[in-house]
Amino acid sequence: MRKRFLILFVLFFTIGCSSVPSTGAANPPAENLRQNSNTEDNLMPNQGKEAEDAIAYHDTSSVRVLVNKQNELPSSYVPPDLAEVNIPFTFSEKAEKRMLRQEAALKLAELFEAAKKESIILYGVSGYRSYKTQKDLFAIFTSRYGSEEKANQISARPGQSEHQTGLAMDVTCRSVNFGLEESFGDTKEYAWLKENAHRYGFIIRYPKGKELITEYTYEPWHLRYVGPELATKLYEKKVTYEEYLFFKV
Ligand SMILES: [Zn+2]
Repeated sequence: MRKRFLILFVLFFTIGCSSVPSTGAANPPAENLRQNSNTEDNLMPNQGKEAEDAIAYHDTSSVRVLVNKQNELPSSYVPPDLAEVNIPFTFSEKAEKRMLRQEAALKLAELFEAAKKESIILYGVSGYRSYKTQKDLFAIFTSRYGSEEKANQISARPGQSEHQTGLAMDVTCRSVNFGLEESFGDTKEYAWLKENAHRYGFIIRYPKGKELITEYTYEPWHLRYVGPELATKLYEKKVTYEEYLFFKV
């Protein structure tokens, strides 16, 4: 078993590393969640894991759907049950980024209320992001940084942003001037989230030290809803969703 795990680890690591910096290879257009998934072919979820884990991670209707640089959402995917989240935001206009899928919206409002009771005041910055918005953003970053590869280090390619699931919300607080920056990770608000978000079904999706696995830089502000049961497992095991699915943890 140990040998098998090592092989899986090396495979996964190789796939991960090869696509972090500029590979020069353009991704094929997204047709469905599986198309860009070398991961799925080569790495099955670990033995002993519940069968539902293996099914849920590429099911776009599941709150457990896995979206990353190997698992894209179709360009046509729009969550079926988007709802405005009843939390304070850093902006006042009406916008798609106020929305999450219904279950996540309700749980995030609960999380914000629980935090407030402990004098932790959080603000929403950005939730749902449509495929079109991702495309527009990526084009802006590409022209600003000169190449798609450079843009991809900062911004997700269209279809690869978790925000399209309607299950991710960027959050912030006053002491970092309501911004999205690494220093949010040093605040008491982040410390509270790290210890409590799982109770409401959220995980810190891109933690420090896991950049080669998630293929994202540290983003302490990015919360992802996966449901309380899975979020609690990930919190207790101190692992990312990728590690939980593909590594023996
Ligand atoms: Zn985010």
